[in-house]
Amino acid sequence: MRNLTIRAKITLWFSVFVILLTTIMFLLMFVISNSVLNEDVKETLINVVNDNTDEIEFVEDINMQEKEVGDQYLEYKDAYIEIDDDYLNEKSGVYCAIYDSEQNLIYGENIINAEVNPDKGIEKCTYKNEKYYVLSKSLSGEKLDGLILLGIVNENANKTILSRTVNLMLFVLPALAVFGIIGGYLLAGRFLSPIRKMTSSVESINDGNDLSKRIELNQAHDELYVLGKSFNKMFHRLEQSFEEEKQFTSDISHELRTPVSTILAQSELTLSKERSTEEYVKSLNVIKRQSLRMKNIVEEMLRFSHLEKLKEIPDSQEFDLSLLLENIMEEQLTRDVRSITIESVVEPDIIINGNSDMIYQLVNNLISNAYKYGKDNGRILVSLNQKDDEIYLSVQDDGIGIEKEMQKKIFSRFFQADNARTATDSKYSVGLGLSIVSQIAKLHRGYVKVESEIDKGSIFTFVIPKNKDK
Ligand code: ADP
Repeated sequence: MRNLTIRAKITLWFSVFVILLTTIMFLLMFVISNSVLNEDVKETLINVVNDNTDEIEFVEDINMQEKEVGDQYLEYKDAYIEIDDDYLNEKSGVYCAIYDSEQNLIYGENIINAEVNPDKGIEKCTYKNEKYYVLSKSLSGEKLDGLILLGIVNENANKTILSRTVNLMLFVLPALAVFGIIGGYLLAGRFLSPIRKMTSSVESINDGNDLSKRIELNQAHDELYVLGKSFNKMFHRLEQSFEEEKQFTSDISHELRTPVSTILAQSELTLSKERSTEEYVKSLNVIKRQSLRMKNIVEEMLRFSHLEKLKEIPDSQEFDLSLLLENIMEEQLTRDVRSITIESVVEPDIIINGNSDMIYQLVNNLISNAYKYGKDNGRILVSLNQKDDEIYLSVQDDGIGIEKEMQKKIFSRFFQADNARTATDSKYSVGLGLSIVSQIAKLHRGYVKVESEIDKGSIFTFVIPKNKDK
């Protein structure tokens, strides 16, 4: 059974179901009609016996009698019994016989040698493997006392239709079974054809390694349509993540190629001839800067890929975000970047659930960017407040700003807008800072939004839902 195809299984179940259903219906029909017909036979027996009873009369003198053709006369007790011509030895399968008081057969035929038990009602007896109903009735009336009329009928007297039906069913049932098998097979094939189509689509996607292909969806919006849609959704996500992976690898190589080539070129140039100490120092400084950039790229990449793998926040616990922000602000006081001033407006006692090191990194990245892309003598404002169900942590600068079309892209890996090249402090920029920020925000069930205007500045806001139990 396990190795059968779905089509074979459906066919099998369908056939079993059809055969079972028809057999049950047939049996039910047989039992009901059998009992109805039995009652019918008994009723006929009673009616025929009663009718015949009316046709028997006692006659003293047959010469005085008006004779009719077909009337019969039996000698009885020095006189006669007249049996009218309406008396029937056999009617509707009921055979009648007349017995005298000594139980001697005087007229008719006892076809099964049944016992005569007057007035015992209908009795059932078996003769030569056939079942019969027998009814003995004592006659009453003038001088008829002692006479008994016996009626016998075969139980199957009017069951010819039933037996024909049974015989018919013996052919019909196998025919139905065949119909069930063929019908089930065709139906299963029809219902499974979309699945076959789906399988071949999936196989062709598999064979061709082309994730941009999609399963053709059928017209009917049924379960298979939903399945096909889910498959297509999955392919879409797979395609996206493969593309992202490809992009990631190409981005890494791209990012690393520049410093590696610079280091190589610088070394070759320096080694090409004898140099002065000053020239060696200059050259080594170039190599150091490029190595530092490489180190930054590799570190950021590792941090980012570690973050990407996380499904939940490690070591998540309650902590005071207001306090964390105040500590970060204190650290900034020692920083002197192009005379940029930094201020904060922090609402106290804002508690969140999460990893404080990660949030530290998030805020630090945003503040670093504000410095990096801020104007000389500019101003950074860090604020923290809560409203309704959300907490807002924002870092605002009055720097170079970001173009509208670029604002969505800046959260992508390795993305750097054109403004990044013009920023004074961008030599160690990697383009992963905001990707890390949005990954941390996502892990904390929050998000980061940006509002920015070219040459006016930017506001990055980390929005996080409040702890439910607070
Ligand atoms: P990077 O290492 O280049 O700073 P990020 O992911 O932190 O990488 O930022 C991506 C890009 O977003 C930056 O290259 C820059 O173009 C832009 N950007 C980020 N922060 C700011 C800001 N405060 N002001 C203007 N542009 C910004």
